[in-house]
Amino acid sequence: MNKRIYLDNAATTQISEEVLNEMLPFFREIYSNPSAIYSFAGESRKAVDCARKHAAELIGAAAEEIYFTGGGSESDNWALKAAAEAYSFKGKHIITSKIEHHAVLHTCEYLETQGYEVTYLDVNEAGKISVEELKAAIRPDTILLSIMTANNEIGTIEPVKEIGKIAHENGVLFHTDAVQAYGHIPIHVDDMGIDMLSASGHKCNGPKGIGILYIRKGLKIRSFIHGGAQERGRRAGTANVPGIVGFGRAAQCAKETMDERAAKETVLRDHLIERVLSEIPYVRLNGHRTDRLPNNLNFCFRFIEGESLLILLDQLGICASSGSACTSGALDPSHVLLAIGLPHEIAHGSLRITLSEETTLEEIDFVADELKKIVERLRSMSPLYEDFLKNRK
Ligand SMILES: *Cc1c(COP(=O)(O)O)cnc(C)c1O
Repeated sequence: MNKRIYLDNAATTQISEEVLNEMLPFFREIYSNPSAIYSFAGESRKAVDCARKHAAELIGAAAEEIYFTGGGSESDNWALKAAAEAYSFKGKHIITSKIEHHAVLHTCEYLETQGYEVTYLDVNEAGKISVEELKAAIRPDTILLSIMTANNEIGTIEPVKEIGKIAHENGVLFHTDAVQAYGHIPIHVDDMGIDMLSASGHKCNGPKGIGILYIRKGLKIRSFIHGGAQERGRRAGTANVPGIVGFGRAAQCAKETMDERAAKETVLRDHLIERVLSEIPYVRLNGHRTDRLPNNLNFCFRFIEGESLLILLDQLGICASSGSACTSGALDPSHVLLAIGLPHEIAHGSLRITLSEETTLEEIDFVADELKKIVERLRSMSPLYEDFLKNRK
């Protein structure tokens, strides 16, 4: 078996050793419930407070604006459902985009069944929303805007600062799903006019099952989980202390290493883009060429099924993704690739590669070499490709 080359960091990341070590004592030695009175509880309480501070610092927020949740999906659900409810006295119109994560899209669809109206903004071929279209979509009854900071499939970074400005000029709340961006690119909630922000531990070398929702001070957002008074009464349930400690440490590490890591990943990303586009014919890069996450690559190879590509890469120990959802055996092309205007047959040939800090040039060159061979091999078996070559003559 080949050595594993893990290039699916948008799906999840490996927990870092520093983060794991920070968490370990809180599983057994320091097991106290931080809500208790005795001084033993103070030990976990202190660790939770410290983690909250680090989680906040990464986005320029105050510690008391951070609420720990069970992950990115919960944060998105909470933000949308609670904001919709809290501001329904003003109106019932929500604006989002067609390329959001399903945690946002399916929550919006649920809200539509509850009497809300949702506008799903188109994106251009690079995956960006149009600020003009956004302005035009705002109505007197619009209460909430939810646009992701960066897309999880094609890596495109949205014009968050401009969106925040428009939201505020129009008195509309702005939530952003920053799960892919948090710890990867600079975010500042005040500079960018963000009112609510979702992030997740396992997308930035932290543990799974822990996330945050940033809620700007003063917003009337109800609790999502009803019960005890944890998280200032807004998210009941005994604190997941090891998870919270891990999240805090991951945020702290991400802040310290972001510039260097992003620079390194960008070099490798651009090297692989350059090699694939110049050495393999009939391939396109999806997403914005420069306004993209430092670790994201997404290609469509014509005349090929993304799934076949993934299976052959897997045989070489390479973990990648097609970036498309595979539900109950039916292979639907990705809603993101369709939204950037790709026809079904091209969207099917997609490959998403997402790097980590550990990724090396050697691995990237190996992937480029093998990809070239695999694409050639799959095309040589493709009747579509054969027809294409014939018709070209
Ligand atoms: C992974 C992801 C989520 C969901 O986060 P979980 O912690 O896995 O629930 C939400 N939004 C985006 C953009 C993601 O990439």
